[in-house]
Amino acid sequence: MMTSKRCIIGCGTYGSYLLRRLIEAFPDDEIIVLELGDRRSQSESEAGLYSESMESQAARAGRYFGLGGTSARWGGQVLFFDERDNPLHDPVWSQIIAINKRYKTRVIENLFGDRSIQPLLELNDKGNLKTGIWLKYNKRNLFKQVNLYKKSEIQLRTGCRVISMNFTQDKLQSVEIINEQRIRQIIEADIFYLTAGAIESCRIMLEMRSKGKFTGTSDIGKHLGDHLSVELFKIQNSTPAIQGVNLIPIWHKGSLVTKRLLVYTSDGRVGYIQGVFNKHIRIFTILKQLMFGKKQTEFNIKELFTGLVFLLKLAWNLLIKRQLYADPKEWSLQLDIEQQYPNKHKLELSKTNDKFGVPGIKLDWSAEPEDRKFIEEISLQFREILLQEKLQFSDCFNNVVNGATKIEDVYHPVGFMRMGTDDSAVTDMHCKIRGAANLFHFSTALFSSARSINPTGAVFCLIEAHLEQAIQQKTA
Ligand SMILES: Cc1cc2nc3c(=O)[nH]c(=O)nc-3n(C[C@H](O)[C@H](O)[C@H](O)COP(=O)(O)OP(=O)(O)OC[C@H]3O[C@@H](n4cnc5c(N)ncnc54)[C@H](O)[C@@H]3O)c2cc1C
Repeated sequence: MMTSKRCIIGCGTYGSYLLRRLIEAFPDDEIIVLELGDRRSQSESEAGLYSESMESQAARAGRYFGLGGTSARWGGQVLFFDERDNPLHDPVWSQIIAINKRYKTRVIENLFGDRSIQPLLELNDKGNLKTGIWLKYNKRNLFKQVNLYKKSEIQLRTGCRVISMNFTQDKLQSVEIINEQRIRQIIEADIFYLTAGAIESCRIMLEMRSKGKFTGTSDIGKHLGDHLSVELFKIQNSTPAIQGVNLIPIWHKGSLVTKRLLVYTSDGRVGYIQGVFNKHIRIFTILKQLMFGKKQTEFNIKELFTGLVFLLKLAWNLLIKRQLYADPKEWSLQLDIEQQYPNKHKLELSKTNDKFGVPGIKLDWSAEPEDRKFIEEISLQFREILLQEKLQFSDCFNNVVNGATKIEDVYHPVGFMRMGTDDSAVTDMHCKIRGAANLFHFSTALFSSARSINPTGAVFCLIEAHLEQAIQQKTA
């Protein structure tokens, strides 16, 4: 059988998963991995990249560089799309959902090493309840799950950034890399995978198009979306349960199984409401910050004492009750809701160059007055439920012109490298970039929206579908 040379551009969350699976699927192929960072996890500014945005945090605070990429710092909560994410029966979404359903068992097994988790998730996924599962802390960085010793033909090149692409007609012949010493080199391959993160992958394609190196005419960079996130209510003195659903995450073999309630607006927008616990307990906040990479923190004696009591309750609940401890004194209901697709938001090349001498990226993103209207609609729906359930609560979302609540994005960038069947889609349904015969892309930007999930898990299913097709083509 003919062997191929495969090149992975960016060894972060998807690059690492893909590398592991390519080693298993194509043991005879040559694989070269080009990674900007190294074993350290670096922020955008530490890595020397540049982005600008008035309101979006997705580039500055939502991406990390180095082996494992953002998975070195992410929450690791894994969820998948299902039919409830397609209330308007869109045919492209039906295909995405079918791919999720077909491959999620395999993805769960690859990530968690345990098939028994899936029935647990499905058992709970009823009505408007959806469950997710957090990877164990020590399994978060996906590069650490790659067994490089299984295969000798891997070239792992760290400290090199892909800065250019060379096409002959629609075939990507090679990419150009630059290292920290500013030495440039050309790397050739038969098949390329662009997994440099949603934003940087888009930036590279926009730059190639601006220089006339790539002639694709799709919607690259357009329709930037994210979940709009806002705290709706603080609830006092009650167990975290609503509509008969206990919202406290449960403990399963070292992972937390989370619960969220799906919500819909009158125009068919999808979102989810979840409980946020122990926000007012400082030791819990500190623990979370340390888990997400903060190096040091300070607290006083009183905080230490109340913290110890809390930690005892936390340990008791995890070990004996097999669930997270949630202080009933106060907890919140947080809404994350999708933005409209299509929309006017976009990514474009910045006029400012980064440390590597290439243009940075500009994210033109904001929450629109219309978005606020739909948040208000969901807020009213839930207010009614809280009143019916006689819960003691205070409103958090304020939509008055002066002093309106700030709406955050939550590092779920979508829409600007969209997969689809129409001519303006950036990739086809197999994640092949239109206008490039041998270039595939994997990131959350493939989805027009993240609907009711934290979207990372759903892209692993697209990688699995791609591999299955590639294996079939190779053996045909
Ligand atoms: C704090 C936080 C918590 C999160 N929690 C969750 C969660 O619980 N669940 C969820 O679903 N999602 C979560 N996310 C989102 C999730 O982390 C991302 O969707 C996912 O990691 C993106 O993977 P990626 O492979 O596209 O990018 P990355 O993991 O960022 O990988 C990109 C890689 O490419 C490298 N690279 C970049 N540019 C180049 C270049 N030009 N040449 C070579 N290499 C390059 C980078 O160094 C990096 O290694 C979270 C994000 C953050 C920030």
